[in-house]
Amino acid sequence: MAPVRVRASTSTFTSRVTLYEPTAASLNGSTSHSATSDVAIAPSPTRRRSNRLSGVKLEGDEEGELFKPNGEDDADEEKPTPKAKSPRKPKKHVEALDKPHPAPKRWEETYEVIRKQRQTIFAPVDGMGCEQGGRSAKKEGEDEPVESEKDKRLSIIVSLMLSSQTKDPVTHQATMNLRYQLPGGLTLEALEAATVEQIDQCICKVGFHNTKAKNLKLLAERLRTHHDGDVPGDLPSLLEIVGVGPKMAYLYLQATGQNIGIGVDTHVHRITNRLRWHQKETQTAEQTRLNLESWLPKHLWPSVNKMLVGFGQEICKPVGPRCDLCDVATAKLCPSRRVVVPSPKKKVKVEIEVKGEDGEPTVKVAMEEEEQKLVSAIKPEPTVPSAVAVNETVVKEEVVEATVA
Ligand code: SF4
Repeated sequence: MAPVRVRASTSTFTSRVTLYEPTAASLNGSTSHSATSDVAIAPSPTRRRSNRLSGVKLEGDEEGELFKPNGEDDADEEKPTPKAKSPRKPKKHVEALDKPHPAPKRWEETYEVIRKQRQTIFAPVDGMGCEQGGRSAKKEGEDEPVESEKDKRLSIIVSLMLSSQTKDPVTHQATMNLRYQLPGGLTLEALEAATVEQIDQCICKVGFHNTKAKNLKLLAERLRTHHDGDVPGDLPSLLEIVGVGPKMAYLYLQATGQNIGIGVDTHVHRITNRLRWHQKETQTAEQTRLNLESWLPKHLWPSVNKMLVGFGQEICKPVGPRCDLCDVATAKLCPSRRVVVPSPKKKVKVEIEVKGEDGEPTVKVAMEEEEQKLVSAIKPEPTVPSAVAVNETVVKEEVVEATVA
C-alpha cells in the first residue's frame, strides 16, 4: 500500500459568538441566523455558564476567553492564572478577659457536691473520652497495637476533630475504625495513603463526616509540611489546623499535659449557665471559657471539663435534667432545679387467647401501659412566679400476637 502523505499546517483564528435576545420567531420554534453566520445562543444562565467553562467568548462577557479550536494554543496570549485559594483566615482568639469575671457565690460548695457525685457515676466520657484516642476495648483475640507517643498524639487530635456534634461512643467507634481499618493503623502515613472516601467509610457515623474526612486529609498534609509529621504543642499552631477550634485545642493541650486553658464544650457551657455562674448568661462556649478562666483556680482547669461532661451526660442532661437525682438540687445550690415527679409503675395487662383446633394455636397478649408525661417547672425563685407541676396520663394499649410453636 502506498504511503499516505499528510501535510501539517497551523492556523490561528477566533470564532465570534453573538448573544442576543430570542425573537418571537425563535421562540415559536423557527431559528434565525445573522448574515455573518453567528451562532445564536438563547441567554439562559445555564448556557452562559457552560460556554464559559468551555472557553467560548460571548460578546459582552468580560470573563470569557477566546475559543481555541482543537486545543491549539495562542503563544502570544497569556494563560489564565488559576484563582489562588484564599488562605484560611484565623479567627481572632481572645486568650483572657481584660476585666476578670467575679467568682460566683458558693461555687466551692457546688463544685465539691458535683465532684463527689461524679465519683459515683460512670459516664460515657469516662470510658470513651477523646483523650483516649479510640483506645480501650481490645478486639477479641487481638492485642492492642503498640503505639508511639507521636501516634498517640495524632489519635487524640483526630478523636477531638471527630467529636464535634457527635456523641462520645460514636466518636470512639469511628476512631477505632480508623485504627483497625486503615492499613498500618491510625498513623500519619496511613492517613496520607488513604483516600478521603476510605477515611469517610471509617467515620461515616459521626456528624459532618464528609467534611471531617477532608479535614483529616488536610491535617495529615499540614502535619507533614509544617510540623515535621507531629501534632504541634502550641495553641496558635493548633488553631491553624482546619477543623480545630479553641475547645479542641485546649482539650488537646490538657490531654498532653499543658494546663493553659479550659476546654469548654456544650456540657460545661450549659451547666455553668444553669448554675448561674455567669453574671450574664453566656452565648458562646468561648465567653464561658473566658469567664471561668478568670476566677476558677488554675489547678482545677484540667479536671473541670471531664467532671462536668460526665455530670451532664448522666444528671444535668440537655433535655430533661434529672434534678430529682442531683445532689446539687438536694443541697439547694442550683437556681435552675426543677420539680420532677417520678413516673408511676407501668400497669401491664396480659390476656391469653388460644385458637381452635384447625388453626395454629395463637397467644394474644394485650398490654396496657400507663405513661406519665412530666411537665416540670423551674422552682420558684423570689422574682419568678411559682409554677405548677402537671401530670398527664396517657393510656396506651398494645396488642401483640404470637404464634406458639
Ligand atoms: S439541679 Fe437540675 S439543673 Fe441544677 S445542676 Fe442539678 S440537674 Fe442540673
